[in-house]
Amino acid sequence: MHISLDRLLADLHELATFGATVDGGVERTSFSPADLAARQWLSQRCDDAGLTLRRDGIGNLFARLGDQPGPAVWTGSHLDSVPNGGRFDGALGVLCSLEALRTIAESGTPPPRPLQLVVFADEEGCYHHLLGSTAVVQGFDADILAEMVGRDGRRLTDALRSAGIDPAEATTTTVDPADVHAFVELHIEQGVTLEGAGAQIGVVESIVGLGGGALTFLGRADHAGTTPMHLRRDPMRGAACFLSHLQQVVAEAGDGRSVATCGRLAVAPGADNIVAQRITVFLDFRDPDRKVLEALEQAMVQRARACAAEHDVEVSYERGSLTDPVPLDEGVRATIAEVADEQGRTLRHLPSGAGHDSQLMARIAPAGMIFVPSRDGRSHSPAEHTAADDIEAGANVLLHTLLRLAGT
Ligand SMILES: [Zn+2]
Repeated sequence: MHISLDRLLADLHELATFGATVDGGVERTSFSPADLAARQWLSQRCDDAGLTLRRDGIGNLFARLGDQPGPAVWTGSHLDSVPNGGRFDGALGVLCSLEALRTIAESGTPPPRPLQLVVFADEEGCYHHLLGSTAVVQGFDADILAEMVGRDGRRLTDALRSAGIDPAEATTTTVDPADVHAFVELHIEQGVTLEGAGAQIGVVESIVGLGGGALTFLGRADHAGTTPMHLRRDPMRGAACFLSHLQQVVAEAGDGRSVATCGRLAVAPGADNIVAQRITVFLDFRDPDRKVLEALEQAMVQRARACAAEHDVEVSYERGSLTDPVPLDEGVRATIAEVADEQGRTLRHLPSGAGHDSQLMARIAPAGMIFVPSRDGRSHSPAEHTAADDIEAGANVLLHTLLRLAGT
């Protein structure tokens, strides 16, 4: 059994018209008109394929193949995008899942277990990071939902209403783990590992742990014109010292897979003519191993202290959050690897540096992820691209992984 690449590419092309941007990307913020139109289009596609549609109170879409009782094998991803995003992130996974289910439906030999496509709402976190899968796995209370506001300032409850959903339904979204036999998500890698290794299939071992924290360098605000350079206690110097050493700290304290980023600084008072009093360096650091993550955090704080001392300022650190890495299911991983091997695909086992709905689904079911290569590792950008033969390889590995998990 094989998927139809032509049909899959035609779908990918058509889906990219919803929220299309001039530079070839898409912008489909959750619950925006473009997102709602894309969901409507996908629902029609599922209906055409003879799948049974359902949506829950947070806007997750489900399309089921097979009405036999018992737990279903789930597969899917998301349709929403980041602002000025690409055509492949999330969308490719949803369409490969649809194509797999459509191919199985057409074969006329349904597997013993039902299959279910899921499209998670707001994966990109306009309202809440991994909103849809969090709603499925742990649910939300009404008061938390009522406080959620999107990047555009719109309330989630208003967004739900615009999608034709009564917000009262949004508290009843959790799924009984007994109803999910397994979950498989296909996604673009969003990195350069597969491309660099010349591999078409990535078997995701784990989703990295993510640390967040803030280093605050404290000095003394002074007049930028009248304070001699040697008398300043300028926290900008401490912060600059730290940032210039960050790559070295990661190389020394990390395990080769670690990354650390400062993508945001806060400067106070924040004027051209005042030596800063306070610089806050916001950190994002990731690794598949919790121990390494903690060691890296410690090393960064030590380096910050050394820089602060060198420049006669103070520094304090506040941890924001530290989420554990999520290992994906060994059985599902082995099935993906077996199928890829039988299909003669070159594969790599690798961690995912990005968060995915799979990390939530792993709490209620054996979950696995299939990565396909991203050209130049580009993602969250209109430059996202995955070659057609890599898409075909990924979709066929997904198809046969699903058949095997569904008992065929
Ligand atoms: Zn994604």
